[in-house]
Amino acid sequence: MPAQVLDTALDAVGNTPLIRLDRLAKLHNIKCNLLGKVEYMSAGGSVKDRIAKAMVEAAEKDGKLIPGKSVVIEPTSGNTGIGLAMACAIKGYSVIITLPNKMSLEKEAALRALGAEVVRTPTEAAWDSPDSHIGVARKLQREIPHGIILDQYGNVNNPLAHELTTGPEIIAAIEATPSTFEKPSSGKVDVFVAGAGTGGTVTGTSRALKKHNKGTIVVATDPKGSILAYPDSLNIDGTGAQYIVEGIGYDFIPDVLSRDVKDIDTWIKTSDQESFDAVQTLMRSEGLLVGGSSGSSLSGALTWLKTSDVGKNVAQTPGKNVVVMLPDGIRNYMSKEWFIKLAMEREPSPLANEIARL
Ligand code: PMP
Repeated sequence: MPAQVLDTALDAVGNTPLIRLDRLAKLHNIKCNLLGKVEYMSAGGSVKDRIAKAMVEAAEKDGKLIPGKSVVIEPTSGNTGIGLAMACAIKGYSVIITLPNKMSLEKEAALRALGAEVVRTPTEAAWDSPDSHIGVARKLQREIPHGIILDQYGNVNNPLAHELTTGPEIIAAIEATPSTFEKPSSGKVDVFVAGAGTGGTVTGTSRALKKHNKGTIVVATDPKGSILAYPDSLNIDGTGAQYIVEGIGYDFIPDVLSRDVKDIDTWIKTSDQESFDAVQTLMRSEGLLVGGSSGSSLSGALTWLKTSDVGKNVAQTPGKNVVVMLPDGIRNYMSKEWFIKLAMEREPSPLANEIARL
């Protein structure tokens, strides 16, 4: 985008860079192009800014929001809330976010800084219990005048925002990058890998990519302990187990998630440990300050590239483009134990020895 003055922060949502992960590919002996879609560069810091903006704008168009009166209430793992709070700060709507206890303090602080009210809910409450983040949001909406839930789990503007922005951005970036001897490119999006929370990202982006190129393979990742993966047999081990990674996985199937094999070709289950290891590698070898679910996307991508027959073939074909969704940044998790641990963890280095000697 040429340099220009933007009207509001909402004009700096999306349009995120697609960045080569060459060092990481080399570490794993992968010959295809591994590319990261870096969503922490969006104004609110995550992929969910896109749907927050889209849902607010659609509700405004339908006359459902009244500045100074409407109270936008949303159950979220935090990032949709941050996007909504940003949009509503600009547009003059009040916001209440219901947020499970496991979600980070950094997300709550960002929400409050943007002027939102935050109500914490028990992480272990089943989605359909009155105590869950969804149950509490519904109760608040019944009782608060002019309360409205935009409902990312059922709102068509969630997947649609990705079909209209995320997918086309990826296609445009790849098509605009010429194939060279040193950096060959098929010119197509051969594979797209993303984690699923509501499922809006993977479903909507898949629709755009597959419409453009029928051959694009879409791989979704789901944390162990969640039930989103298809077929259900993938979820049997560890159903109900708690996992630390935020923003992906659920105990119900959101309406906006398509588990149809026409949209999502295959699912990979990921563990917390492999996700955090992948975050560390993204930081140390690519300089990318991503959050935990980015590690899940990457580790799922690597598992698929190393273990499935189709994946092994893609991995060894120079020029094939494998796009990995990196949904948010480490800003959201700086105080979390898993981050402090991976930040501090190091092999003793000659430089550290020298510093100690001086
Ligand atoms: N990663 C993070 C950090 C998120 O906040 C979310 C949204 N819950 C996702 C991944 C998954 O995105 P989606 O809801 O579109 O499936």
